[in-house]
Amino acid sequence: MKLRIAYVFAAALVVTAGCSSSPSESGDSEVSPINCVPTTVIDGPVNIATTVAPITSIIANIAGGTDATINGIVPEGTNSHTFEPKPSDAVTLEQADVVFINGLVLEEPTKELALANLKDGAVICELGSQILPENEYIYDFSFPLEGGKPNPHLWTNPPMAKEYAAVARDLLSALNPTNASIFAANYEAFAAKVDALDAAMATATATIPQDQRNLLTYHDAYAYFAVHYGYNVIGAIQPSSFDEPTPKEIADLITQVRESGVKAVFGSEVFPSPVLEQIGAETGVRYVDVLRDDDLIGEPGDAEHSWLGLMRFNYVTMIEALGGDASALKTVDVSDVVKDSATYPQ
Ligand SMILES: [Zn+2]
Repeated sequence: MKLRIAYVFAAALVVTAGCSSSPSESGDSEVSPINCVPTTVIDGPVNIATTVAPITSIIANIAGGTDATINGIVPEGTNSHTFEPKPSDAVTLEQADVVFINGLVLEEPTKELALANLKDGAVICELGSQILPENEYIYDFSFPLEGGKPNPHLWTNPPMAKEYAAVARDLLSALNPTNASIFAANYEAFAAKVDALDAAMATATATIPQDQRNLLTYHDAYAYFAVHYGYNVIGAIQPSSFDEPTPKEIADLITQVRESGVKAVFGSEVFPSPVLEQIGAETGVRYVDVLRDDDLIGEPGDAEHSWLGLMRFNYVTMIEALGGDASALKTVDVSDVVKDSATYPQ
């Protein structure tokens, strides 16, 4: 399956290269740089670039304890879906031996900049596109099929985040075999923590009656998570344009909130929404505005400034707002498996 996906990308790149001016400069045009299997080996420090902070944190857990350098590109607290990299990000990308991105069309401008600046032998690994076949991509209100951008938020679903970590381990071990045993040990420790978080979320979810496991969110970052834990995403408010919904859409949502009997509507800290506030006020349903999909908790260096900390925060918020018992989650250890030395732009 992985090989087939890699070939699809390779074929797509050859087609693109054929009709545009210059992407391929050396003779090895049959090898796509969009590939989670490196073609070179590095003995010294590996230079890694990443995009959004949760992915940076996952990579930092796998590559930590080696002499690798890890640089995130997307500043925390910005809209990653519309993010345009700065010209100075080209420097980070041209120095990278590997660029880990989410894929599923989340970071196209950054991917384009990476493709234009990548050094020979460097690769761009699309983690999400690598682990999920296209026929399993989820399209919804905020990410409609006709828009061509699937819902990209695989990392809010623990089993998929664990698969991201496994892809990173395999790639880094092939690229930098000297440190393969460190990558393997880091992965084992990280996977155990992800499993513990996953089990705790399942336990916490079980404290909410089935018919109340409904999510109405502003920014729909929980599509794959919802399938995994058995939640029903009854709606998302943010249109694919990232504009506010129309008055008609707001009226429909108010009706939907009243009819569905949801206990809470969930906003996003990155996308403050007066509309959601209005819906909460008009329906009497609790409005929770603190969920976050790619802005880690606290500041770099803080104990919960990690993928694990971010997910636990979101899960506890959801469980408690829906009337459940989050105590199983509160005892989960969300510390990184190794000191996080990545750079997170703010
Ligand atoms: Zn998002």
